[in-house]
Amino acid sequence: MKALVYHGPGQRGWDTVADPAIADPGDVIVRIDSSTICGTDLHILKGDVPACVPGTVLGHEAVGTIEEVGRGVTTLAAGDRVLVSCISSCGRCRYCKEARYGQCLGGGGWIFGHKIDGLQAEYARVPFADNSVHKIPDGLTDEQVLFLADILPTSFEVGVLNGVTQPGDVVAIVGAGPIGLAAILTAKLFTPGHIVAIDLADSRLEAARRFGADVTVNNGTHDPIAAVMELTDGLGADVTIEAVGVPDTFELAVDLVRPGGHVANVGVHGTAATLHLEKQWIRDITVTTGLVDTFSTPQLLKLVASGRLDPTLFATHRFPLADTMEAYDVFADAARTGALKVVLEGAVRTAGARDSARVAVTAG
Ligand SMILES: [Zn+2]
Ligand SMILES: [Zn+2]
Repeated sequence: MKALVYHGPGQRGWDTVADPAIADPGDVIVRIDSSTICGTDLHILKGDVPACVPGTVLGHEAVGTIEEVGRGVTTLAAGDRVLVSCISSCGRCRYCKEARYGQCLGGGGWIFGHKIDGLQAEYARVPFADNSVHKIPDGLTDEQVLFLADILPTSFEVGVLNGVTQPGDVVAIVGAGPIGLAAILTAKLFTPGHIVAIDLADSRLEAARRFGADVTVNNGTHDPIAAVMELTDGLGADVTIEAVGVPDTFELAVDLVRPGGHVANVGVHGTAATLHLEKQWIRDITVTTGLVDTFSTPQLLKLVASGRLDPTLFATHRFPLADTMEAYDVFADAARTGALKVVLEGAVRTAGARDSARVAVTAG
């Protein structure tokens, strides 16, 4: 089969690799119908994730159809359409029993495109399948559910829920890339008083308004603290969500929160950031960190099925799976291309209902 293979920092290839096979009774083999590229894949390609060794197939977000089931699999059958989540769960360890699947000690957690071959491929082996994949409700398209593989539950759990967002709150989101936009979309489920999006790029702030932010601040030209103080009688935001992952944005998220408020860090940090305890010790703030557990994925699927949540806004570009190399170029150059998420369409899907060469839905 063909797959996108990591060959070490700065190097990737669209290679012919061995077809995956059942290796454990709990495995299934999934034909990938739709997958997507994540900012994390770009981190791996920069060499920031040493646990991912050269030769690994990348990708951890996909929708597919089960082709083959291991003899230990009891709830899934060939032909089932499933969402393959970025997090796998052994179902047995201490953390899985607490629904903290991201911290799985039994061989799960974030494994696809990291510790085992991933999902930017024609087929994939999916371990712990009974515990880890989600059957797709009838009538939903791939693109309605694809982004529930990672960014929606990540922003919802690690941002909105860790931030204890309440109706009427002022929620300030630092960073309006895909993770910040997913935080806007899922914060709206709690009907905040205001959603403030802060970013250095006007194109991203425009996207933030499309997704539902009602106040946007370009912090290159305007003071985000002044803007938030004006909305909150000088107190600060009830919830701030850090969705970038650099020291400045973390420190801004802390500066923006009111006494007694919550700072939810979602960004993936590569260098040390400072928590100014000399200022913050007296302000009763709560700072949280986390990796997504995906315990909320069934809830998010219900919201999509009932029409209360529409993640299709993220799909700005579509490519046949065979053009994954080009799709990476477009995704990595988001400032120029306006890419939020690129959809990689598997061969079967491409040959089916959609007569798709590649379609750019929006250029914003
Ligand atoms: Zn991802
Ligand atoms: Zn586990």
